Amino acid sequence: MTSAATLLSDVFGFDAFRPGQQEIVEAVTANENVLAIMPTGGGKSLCFQLPAMMRDGVTVVISPLIALMRDQVRSLQEAGVGAGALTSGNTPEETDAVWEGLEAGTLKLLYMAPERLASGGAMSKLKRVGVSLIAVDEAHCVSQWGHDFRPDYLRIGELRRNLNVPLAAFTATADAETQAEIVEKLFDGTQPQTFLRGFDRPNIHLAFAAKNKPRDQILTFAAARKGQSGIVYCGTRAKTEGLARALNDAGLRAIHYHGGMEAEDRRIAEARFQQEDGLIVCATVAFGMGVDKPDIRWVAHADLPKSIEAYYQEIGRAGRDGAPAETLTLFGPDDIRLRRSQIDEGLAPPERRAADHARLNALLGLAEALKCRRKTLLAYFGETEITCGRCDLCDSPAEVFDGTTAVRKALSAILRTEEWFGAGHLIDILLGTRTDKIAARGHDGLPTFGVGTEYTRAQWQAVFRQMMGHDLIRPDPERHGALRMTDAALPILRNEAQIILRKDSIATAAANRRPAV
Ligand code: ADP
Repeated sequence: MTSAATLLSDVFGFDAFRPGQQEIVEAVTANENVLAIMPTGGGKSLCFQLPAMMRDGVTVVISPLIALMRDQVRSLQEAGVGAGALTSGNTPEETDAVWEGLEAGTLKLLYMAPERLASGGAMSKLKRVGVSLIAVDEAHCVSQWGHDFRPDYLRIGELRRNLNVPLAAFTATADAETQAEIVEKLFDGTQPQTFLRGFDRPNIHLAFAAKNKPRDQILTFAAARKGQSGIVYCGTRAKTEGLARALNDAGLRAIHYHGGMEAEDRRIAEARFQQEDGLIVCATVAFGMGVDKPDIRWVAHADLPKSIEAYYQEIGRAGRDGAPAETLTLFGPDDIRLRRSQIDEGLAPPERRAADHARLNALLGLAEALKCRRKTLLAYFGETEITCGRCDLCDSPAEVFDGTTAVRKALSAILRTEEWFGAGHLIDILLGTRTDKIAARGHDGLPTFGVGTEYTRAQWQAVFRQMMGHDLIRPDPERHGALRMTDAALPILRNEAQIILRKDSIATAAANRRPAV
């Protein structure tokens, strides 16, 4: 039998496997059930095409994307591999030719749209032609939670049971819920051998900074990269326009982009960004889907993204060409408040909301990370064997301190005022500042009044932000955003757990303000 490595170079003309491909090919070849999670563009197709070519019988490939199936069939045929497709786009003659090829044993790969599984007789015909492997592309389409749910994907489990052959499922969606649903629906709940590979984008430098005059932070970051193409993601439409103006005023070239623009204006903005060198686009997340520009040198977030997955996807638009690219994500208490309230005020069912809070927490954990950002990010996706050296925390480790006492003092201020106040007022209490509001409420009589003078106001703001980042406190939308303690804070309150905080967020943010050019 020809080896996978030989086929890789002889048939596809590639010298080496991409990360993960070889192990996945080996597991599929060894007839294991496999779930492989790789990012888009990571090279999933080869992971079923090579094993298909190396085994007897036909490999059925289920895919929801007709254009993609046709592309793959064409290139396999050009490479001399027997392949055909059954889709709604076929002419009757094409369909007949595919079935003939299957009966005659000349096809190694049969691509099928999932709805074809519903058509009468497909199952029994497939049984007759000797299928030896099922490959499922875009396997997350089986998940009812996701945005791409395809009811016909639910028939795949039945196909697997009927044919009684191994199944290899592929997806780029890494979250745990979707994975669990794939295992449930495609593998009847028996855990397949699972691979999660290739999520690291080593050329992308990762950095976060606490907001401190955020417009200046973005201007400085962009000015230091003058002449390079970059994206600034903004939380609101108005901000895309305001920031683009500020960048232009600072002598950079910037345009804005958001979903509220006319379709034609959006198209022009996309085309300009695609074609012009060194243009900056200030955009909402509406921007990026259709953009395939390999030399985006940087991505900045003027506001915190909505989840760790969204963050990963948005920074992933930088450096597609493999050359070094930079990112900077700004975050502050207002972002956390906004993102939490978007989740709380959404219409999702309670379990879904809890999961969304968890995804936001994962991103906040990354923002407040004490050690390597890349390791923290990829650990979330389940990828552990990572070397970094290209993130702000590897460049200069965070200065930390034991924040347990500070956090307990802050919690005490929150509890003694019965969870009805925001950080500003709570810090006034801790610092012993006699404002009118303090006097009016009699808060200068609290035992907590003035117990926090060892820190400045800015340092207390950093402590409160980090407490939100660690999900020890949450703003309550029903109390005008007043901070309330979560259960996660109980062990610290009871002195059963310690907490380490970053010292440097505020100082670093201030240093970043100095213009680099
Ligand atoms: P996915 O389905 O994971 O999004 P594809 O299978 O379409 O990705 O592969 C993405 C691109 O990478 C394709 O152009 C493919 O030819 C190329 N590719 C895949 N594996 C390799 C490899 N080992 N070496 C070089 N290029 C590869």
